[in-house]
Parts: sequence; C-alpha cells; structure tokens
Amino acid sequence: MSFISRRLSEIKPSPTLMLAQKAEDLKTQGRDIINLTVGEPDFQTPSHICEGARVAMLSGQTKYTAVAGTLALRKAISEKFKNDNNLKYDPNQILVSNGGKQVIFNAMMATINPGDEVIIPAPFWVSYADIVALFEGKPVIVSTSPKNNFKLLSEDLDKVITPKTKWLFLNSPSNPTGSIYSREDLQKLAKVLLKHPHVHILTDDMYEYLIYDNLEFTTIASVEPQLYDRTLTVNGVSKAYSMTGWRIGYAGGPKDLIKAMMTVQSQSTTNPCSIAQAAALCALEGSREFLKNWLTEFTERRNLVVQLLAKIPELKLIPPQGAFYAFTDCHGVINKTTPTGSKIESDSDFAAYLLEDQGVALVPGSSFGLGPYIRISFATNQTVLKDACERIQQAVLKLSD
Ligand code: GLU
Repeated sequence: MSFISRRLSEIKPSPTLMLAQKAEDLKTQGRDIINLTVGEPDFQTPSHICEGARVAMLSGQTKYTAVAGTLALRKAISEKFKNDNNLKYDPNQILVSNGGKQVIFNAMMATINPGDEVIIPAPFWVSYADIVALFEGKPVIVSTSPKNNFKLLSEDLDKVITPKTKWLFLNSPSNPTGSIYSREDLQKLAKVLLKHPHVHILTDDMYEYLIYDNLEFTTIASVEPQLYDRTLTVNGVSKAYSMTGWRIGYAGGPKDLIKAMMTVQSQSTTNPCSIAQAAALCALEGSREFLKNWLTEFTERRNLVVQLLAKIPELKLIPPQGAFYAFTDCHGVINKTTPTGSKIESDSDFAAYLLEDQGVALVPGSSFGLGPYIRISFATNQTVLKDACERIQQAVLKLSD
C-alpha cells in the first residue's frame, strides 16, 4: 500500500508550474532558454504598492489578521465590486486567500461531496479539474470550438446539467484562449442556469483588466442578478497589478458559502500574509493610471505575436481578446518528423521538440484539455517574443513530412 493517499494518486502537479520550473532549471544549467510557460506579467509591482508593504511591516502589521482578510482590505474589495462590476458584496461576503487558486480550493473543499459534478468548459485553466478531483468531485469537461472562439454554448451547457451538477466554472477573459464572454453570451448561459436552481457558478475574473480592443468586461452575477445568490465571483491582484508572488486572491459570494470557505481557510493557512494584504489594499485604493501603459504594451505584444505566427502556415491563432496567452493551433505539425527522426504525434511532442531544438519553453494545449495546441505566454518583452517566434519558425521549417 502506498504511503501517498489514493486521492492524490489521481492528481497531477500543476503543468504550468512544473514546466516553468523545468525551463528555469535548464537555464541554471546554462542552456539558452526562452521561458514562455507561466503566465505572469514581467512588470515590477508598482512602487506605491511596494511602499505600502514597507510601511505595513514597519508599523507592526506583521501579526495574524482576521481569517477572511483584514476588514480594511475587504472594504476596499467591496468598493471594487461595486464600482467596477455593479455587485454589492458586503465585507462579510468576501474572503481573501493566498491567490485565486486558494479561493477556488477553499470553495471546492467547502462544497464538494464525492461524485458531485462540476462543469468545466475546455480549454480550461490547468488547475480547475485537478482541484475538483482532489475532493472526489467529477469534472465534466465540455468541449468548445474555435468557431465560437472557444466559448461554451448555452445548448451544450443545457445538455450536460444533471441532478448531480454542483458548479459551472466560467473564466473570462480566458486562460488559455483569451476569449471574452460578451453580455449576450452570458445572458444565454444565464437563461439555461435559471432553469436549474441547484447549479452554482464560479466565475474566475482574474484577467478582468487585461482586455484589448476596448471590448467590454462583464461578469455573470451582474448580467443576471437572479444568479447573484448562487455565484462566487473570484478575482485577485496578481495579473492586473503584477503581484503574482504576493499571493492575494479574493472572492465575493453568498454569506453561507463564504463562511464555509473561511472555516476551511482557518484550518489551513489561517490568513493570507498580512504584509501582502496591506500591499493589495494599496493596489485597490491607489490609481490605476499605470495600467494604461501596461495595456498598450500588452496590445503591442499581442499584435507582434499574431503577426509573427501568421508567417508559419502550420500554426493558426485566433487573436486573443484578453489575458496574455496565444493559444495556437498546431494540427499542422502533427505527424511531421524532427531532424533527429522522431515523429511529432501530439502537442506535448511538439512542445518537447521546441524546447530541445530551440530552447523555447511553452505549455502544450492538452494540459488545458484541448490538443493539439500550444499556449505561448506573451507576458514578456517584444525582443524576447520576436526571438521566440523566429525560433519556433526555424523549428517548424526543419520538420519533414
Ligand atoms: N495562471 C498562471 C498560468 O496559467 C499561473 C500559473 C499557475 O498557477 O498555473 O500560467
């Protein structure tokens, strides 16, 4: 009998984090690696936020905080929800955790009984299905099509809801596709959900501020107020404020659900880091002026990647509408042969070849539940991105039929 639990044997380590680590290890060994795996902005956390953390440390904010997060931070989050999303979440309807991932983890631990079903549209962020499985829930993966920009169709949602469905996961802008659900898209999904009052909705809005071409951001509880009582609206400071390492995510939701999630958190990490919470407070209360420049830069990066990948006929990319990932169709390289004689049978083979041949590290689409695709994170500077795309082009040119 294994010492490791049966439940854990079903769970794989986060592929984004594992591949990022692998790329960094290869760099340490002296390999020339371009790491486009993990999604995190390369910008410095704005200095007023770091300053807030420094002041917090020196003024003694170094002790435990309330489990759910400091009242000051929860009030600021409540304001954010009101101002940005037209959602009224009182501070006692808000939980702050160590990143959006812990918010989702707490929610699943608080609600999933073995066999409960969770609908996850694919492609999906790598951790959703594993977190559900960790609590013996059943991820119900629903395919989407590039024809519909990888968005869940209401008729497909209708088909997969059963009496056992506990949650539907939504993520817009999406990691990995960058697709954005419009108000009309959400209204259509809401219409189906209103027929099934036992289904809760977890919406992961982590990329809310990273939207291109002036598209509108909307979130389901504000689009359909009748769903408010069964929606958990998840967000965080990681992507918008370049604060991935500070680990602050949060959610607004029904009081009883938040309370249950708090119970989970009180038995695991107690509270998120007091200093990081003080920094997040500065982020939420401070000016977002800097975001304009970041968005301009991200837009240029997106355009550059779209333009450079268009030169490679074997690859196809729908220009992402938000976030900072290019989820690229690589059907065109499948069954081709590398210079060393190996056949590319999957996106994982292609990703391994790009790493080996050109030192470009990225994540295969199959990790997100859809292959053969590759996810390129373009949260890095344009010189590096240009180099990376040229290397990918070189690698593809070397393949034979
Ligand atoms: N959300 C980021 C990504 O997909 C961070 C890494 C992770 O936790 O997966 O790359």
